[in-house]
Amino acid sequence: MGETSTGVKGHVARPALTFLGGAGTVTGSKFLIETHETRVLLECGLFQGGRELRRRNWEPFPLPASAIDAVVLTHAHLDHCGYLPALARQGFAGPVFATGYTAELAEIVLRDSARLLAEEAEHANSYGWSKHHPALPLYTEADVDRAVRLITPVDPGQAAIIAPHITLTLHHAGHILGSAWARLEFTGGRRSSTLACSGDLGRAAHRLLRPPDTFSGADVLLVESTYGNREHADEQARQAFADTITRTLGRGGSVIIPSFAVDRTEVILRTLRELRQADQIPQSPVLIDSPMALAALSVYQKAIAARSGELRPEIIADGTEALDPGGLQELRTPAESMTANRPVRPSVIVSASGMATGGRVLHHLRHLLPDSRNTVLIVGFAAEGTRARDLSEGARTIKIHGEYVPVRAEIIQADAFSAHADADDILCWLTGAPEPAATYVVHGEPSAAAALRDRLDHELGWTAAVPALGERVTIRARKLRHCSSRSTVTEHNEEPKVGSARTPRATARRCSTCSKCVMARPGSAPMMGNLA
Ligand SMILES: [Zn+2]
Ligand SMILES: [Zn+2]
Repeated sequence: MGETSTGVKGHVARPALTFLGGAGTVTGSKFLIETHETRVLLECGLFQGGRELRRRNWEPFPLPASAIDAVVLTHAHLDHCGYLPALARQGFAGPVFATGYTAELAEIVLRDSARLLAEEAEHANSYGWSKHHPALPLYTEADVDRAVRLITPVDPGQAAIIAPHITLTLHHAGHILGSAWARLEFTGGRRSSTLACSGDLGRAAHRLLRPPDTFSGADVLLVESTYGNREHADEQARQAFADTITRTLGRGGSVIIPSFAVDRTEVILRTLRELRQADQIPQSPVLIDSPMALAALSVYQKAIAARSGELRPEIIADGTEALDPGGLQELRTPAESMTANRPVRPSVIVSASGMATGGRVLHHLRHLLPDSRNTVLIVGFAAEGTRARDLSEGARTIKIHGEYVPVRAEIIQADAFSAHADADDILCWLTGAPEPAATYVVHGEPSAAAALRDRLDHELGWTAAVPALGERVTIRARKLRHCSSRSTVTEHNEEPKVGSARTPRATARRCSTCSKCVMARPGSAPMMGNLA
């Protein structure tokens, strides 16, 4: 404290922002914000995916964990909260600010993560593939205990002072239950400034959650770009989902849906209910086979019972039935799980993990893939190198638990349930807000991030950049100047909408906070350099 990593002791400099993760990749979101008196870590995500990415979780944290004063989490997915127990293990003991539902779901997700890390270490020790002897997990259940004790719920929409001269407001993001986009205000310097982070942005088409709260503007914006180069085709995918279930049950087979435990399972249940009510699919048992999914389901049920404002009105109106498709069976114990390997009746089986990289779904695939009556229905993004991706690309055999299993079942990919905004959704969310001084495109593969950056530039005329891992920039307020002639003002809302040809860059536009000013287009002043 008192000295920033710029090395200027006591000088009231602008806050600085360093991209410690979620830059150049989807996972590992960690954004370090430093003022002259405080350090706040916005997001504390785990790197996930290939070995190269996961290795980054083991790199030394670039500053002592105890030097961080507070953490802010946007939501409970591992790529946003999964490093928290590692940070606590290294000595971080400050408050962790998140919504109440994020606090509940993060505990479920982090305990499952600790269990998986322990299994991975055990496997490495049994087969000798780790360089470390013995291999240790990144963190343990005890570290999770330490981390969850630090979580301090804050109410969405309510400003909370989280550190000296730093105020946080969390706004509904509509991605999963509890998810938020965050707005931080820094008041310590000569001029106050603001930073907003989209977290993972939900979609107007989410079947359970209300669309995200409108983006109200900020001096600096971090925006996700998971689907920065894609558009969802919901209706076709939903039809393919319904047709696949009808066809498979009709020939006496079962449908296996590898699914993420949090939110995806709930959205599948809701969709099954709607399709059954509309008589678009036949009745059958629906087996939910994942202890984590069942724990998350009870948090969603609780939110429905509490009539949470995050939920769509039709979900609240449906009450506790909202997620019940009929014929629901909850498989909790390993013995119950084994019944799904050979279902007595043709069934819909929803089981983790979502990309079939591990978990109970592997047992079901081993038993059900060799039978051509069955179908594997892949309903979400399947990363390269995962079994779900191999299946969707037509693999004839799949290796499970050391054995090759023939793929005779039908394989269908119907990306009907993405909880991420696509490029159009993001542009729509931003349209109407005043231009930030700088917009950083994060949480995306390089091609997706670059595509979104180009659209922000061409369609909104915004200064947008894709930051590099470790890059450091300053947070500065937008320049304001008084308007001499209102006729010169370019009103943002009058610009051509998404999908139009390149828009001429606006040189000035009306200020959102005061109707008498226009904002000049600011120059960006990135401060390059690695924090290592
Ligand atoms: Zn997420
Ligand atoms: Zn994410």
